[in-house]
Amino acid sequence: MANIIDGKKLSLKLRDESAKRVIDLKNAGIEPRLDVVIVGDDPASHQYVNSRLKDCEDIGLLSITHVLDAGIEQRELTELLDKLSSDSEVHGILLQMPLPKHMDQDEVLSHICPEKDVDGLTVLNAGALFSGREGFAPCTPSSIMHLIKSTGVPIKGKNAVVVGRSIVVGKPAAMLLLAEHATVTVCHSRTVDLKAHLQNADIVVAAVGSANIIKGDMLKPGAIVIDAGINRVDGKTVGDVEFDSAERIAGYISPVPGGVGPVTRKILLSNTLTAAERANGRR
Ligand code: NAP
Repeated sequence: MANIIDGKKLSLKLRDESAKRVIDLKNAGIEPRLDVVIVGDDPASHQYVNSRLKDCEDIGLLSITHVLDAGIEQRELTELLDKLSSDSEVHGILLQMPLPKHMDQDEVLSHICPEKDVDGLTVLNAGALFSGREGFAPCTPSSIMHLIKSTGVPIKGKNAVVVGRSIVVGKPAAMLLLAEHATVTVCHSRTVDLKAHLQNADIVVAAVGSANIIKGDMLKPGAIVIDAGINRVDGKTVGDVEFDSAERIAGYISPVPGGVGPVTRKILLSNTLTAAERANGRR
């Protein structure tokens, strides 16, 4: 039976590390700060933002929320982002997605300065990831890497298969694995024989959004399986990997819920503190 990668436990460790970094910064006279911008009144977005604010409060990290009306002009939002980007007291900016349909997402994101883009969504940070420069990767793929590394199994030289190629999960996860010297294959909806790829994979990252699409008999025995999928089935949250069958074949597996999700939340805090440390010459 596979070892379970306990995301909740890992997230508590990250939380404690971040709480200590907040104290260190405050002792040095620096008040680390995350500004959260949300446009509109979508309940799911507000719920997501509220949980992030609680995470900040939990470690003593100052967070300020800016709630804008869904009907505002794009210019009002970009002006706010410009102001926050140039405010030296702000270290991280989180812009909650999705934006209202009348807005051009890429244009809006370009108003967040990359040093404060702690969610890793700007094109400049994507470029930094692609070219191996310092920046911020999106939080979910960073969490995926954290879970893989927690196993202690070296990544170098391993065959990794990432299923999904979105700009927020699949592609950056592939780049991060490549940076750690894995041999990376990216599968997607037009991949002809997913099973053939998975059977050669020492590391599997599932980022599809389709319940139980990856089953145990598709996996290589002993593989590390990280499931980023979040799907609702019969009122329950399940991943992209059929847990019961995969658990019998994999060497390590992250559950859903309790795997990638809790660590992703803590990565946002950690990135904000990194931004504050960098801005003050402490890294
Ligand atoms: P997305 O933008 O919809 O991308 C899904 C990807 O899966 C696409 O690249 C798509 O291929 C591929 N795909 C679809 N059907 C496939 C199939 N039958 N076989 C192989 N690949 C297939 O989704 P996303 O934003 O990356 O999110 C993926 C999952 O992660 C979702 O369940 C989401 O809720 C979850 N998620 C979790 C977290 C977290 O913190 N845990 C954060 C963000 C997202 P094409 O490119 O060809 O269409």
